[in-house]
Amino acid sequence: MTRCAICSRPLPADTDLHACAPCLDQLRGMLAEIPRHLPLLALLLAPTAGVRTPGASAPTGRAHSPMPLRLDVVTLLGPGHAVQLPDPTGDQDPTVPIRPLLSGWASYIASQYPTVHRDPHGTVHIAPGTTPRSRFGAGPAAWCHWLAAYLPFAASHDWIGDMYRQIDHLVRLLRSKTDRPPTRTPRNAPCPACEAFGLVSTEGEQLITCEACGHRLTPAAYREHSAAVLPPLTRLAVLFLDDRDTARKAS
Ligand SMILES: [Zn+2]
Ligand SMILES: [Zn+2]
Repeated sequence: MTRCAICSRPLPADTDLHACAPCLDQLRGMLAEIPRHLPLLALLLAPTAGVRTPGASAPTGRAHSPMPLRLDVVTLLGPGHAVQLPDPTGDQDPTVPIRPLLSGWASYIASQYPTVHRDPHGTVHIAPGTTPRSRFGAGPAAWCHWLAAYLPFAASHDWIGDMYRQIDHLVRLLRSKTDRPPTRTPRNAPCPACEAFGLVSTEGEQLITCEACGHRLTPAAYREHSAAVLPPLTRLAVLFLDDRDTARKAS
């Protein structure tokens, strides 16, 4: 039995993929989320700047001159290597910056992607290896778009697990800096698997997830499910409220 390289759930017997649909949906959501952090990170570059929340107090004074830029943010936005380099002295920041991480995965995927060319004798050759190019440029947002487009190819290899974990690590780091998690929208209908009112839509993800049991369903399946269960639930709620009002008036 093949299991998802990300969550270890069993995969369908007839699939060529190494990741399940919910995990790929999450990965696609994370790739859509990364560009939303970029302008917030730019605001955080200056040490006294912050993504201010309503009611937050103003920055207080400090006893020494601040660094001209926040090094943790510069590290994320700056150039670097796609993999961690050996650090025998232990004094290097192990963070892989955003752009090298994304372009590094694009280069790796492109190196594995089969390309077809015909030689002068008309023979068709298929070989792996090409250079990634994005029509949106070479910035992080362009590479996020590129990686999302090649996700089906990446999912057909077992290294999709490493790709997911590295991008998940980056996204958690970005959220910790910008305090901007994806927007969650609770849905009205109960979960069809566990009946808890835990279904939530998450910004950037296509599937709707139950936070109680982890069940996932497509928007179309949710519409069908909610059309079947919400009208009876609404009638029950109205009956309950009517009975309560009657009992209150009688007392
Ligand atoms: Zn999975
Ligand atoms: Zn559930």
